[in-house]
Amino acid sequence: MTDQTTVRPATTEAITDAGQLLRAGRLVAFPTETVYGLGADATDDRAVAAIFAAKDRPRFNPLIVHVSDARAAREVVDFDERAKALAAAFWPGPLTLVLPRRPDSGLSLLVSAGLESVAVRAPDHPVARALLEAAERPVAAPSANASGRISPTTAAHVAQSLGGRISLILDGGPCRVGLESTVVDLCGDAPALLRPGGLPAEAVEAAIGPLAPPGSGPARSPGMQSRHYAPRLPLRLNASAPRPGEALLGFGRDSQETTKNLSASGNLEEAAANLFAMVRDLDTGGHTGIAVAPIPETGLGRAINDRLRRAATRPDTEGDDTR
Ligand code: AMP
Ligand code: MG
Repeated sequence: MTDQTTVRPATTEAITDAGQLLRAGRLVAFPTETVYGLGADATDDRAVAAIFAAKDRPRFNPLIVHVSDARAAREVVDFDERAKALAAAFWPGPLTLVLPRRPDSGLSLLVSAGLESVAVRAPDHPVARALLEAAERPVAAPSANASGRISPTTAAHVAQSLGGRISLILDGGPCRVGLESTVVDLCGDAPALLRPGGLPAEAVEAAIGPLAPPGSGPARSPGMQSRHYAPRLPLRLNASAPRPGEALLGFGRDSQETTKNLSASGNLEEAAANLFAMVRDLDTGGHTGIAVAPIPETGLGRAINDRLRRAATRPDTEGDDTR
């Protein structure tokens, strides 16, 4: 998607306009104390899909959902005692908490990229905070750089990387921390450090006790939380027609006899926006399998196919987890 990108100093007026753009489903880059984020309305599937398209990400990885404070976080995730203690000590600040997603969160399934959890953070930057107020909703935001490039800490970095792909860049000067947030997983019994970052892990441990170190997979509970969503039914990819008993998840106009169509017009952003919800629906619909029409391996199609290939691999035959 191409877009005319405007760079504006983050004045009150520009932030108000940015909030309106977010509510209209557009992408806005904004400063946080860690790095610049590429923001979209976290409740809007199409807007979240547009983040992956603008970054040219080859995979759907889960996104951090930015909120004003712990009260706003509690509307989208189950906030336990450890989360309360950490939020009281370090929010707003460079600490992201991964918590169970509430069924009534209203968040796009794409922000979780198929997981049952959501990463939430209240950023400590006056522009980010004012933007969250103006948007009046949670804002999904990965770092505002094209996939594979380093995270941007100035508006100029964002313009170099994403100019022409997003609506607006709010310029709030250089980022104070310049490192991504520390990510702590609170879904299991034992809290785990998923990513070291701007808040020292020692500070987190002082508040809630020891953290399992990054990549300590076997020590983690093998529960559902950190495993990617695998459908119950077998998935058959590149299918031209359903076999008896199968549902057909179509793509584009040529798809015949589709049970659901990811995008009748063949639009990959629309398909990405529909992917998780449609697979979940078909999985519970009384079929014996899900046949999926071919999806082109270009742009967002790569991330869609990556996810479908993972979902087509039965969990018990899978050697490697996505996370
Ligand atoms: P970035 O895209 O640069 O903002 O990085 C986001 C980080 O948060 C990545 O390390 C993600 O893997 C992690 N993350 C986001 N959401 C989740 C989640 N639901 N579960 C586990 N990790 C998450
Ligand atoms: Mg990044």
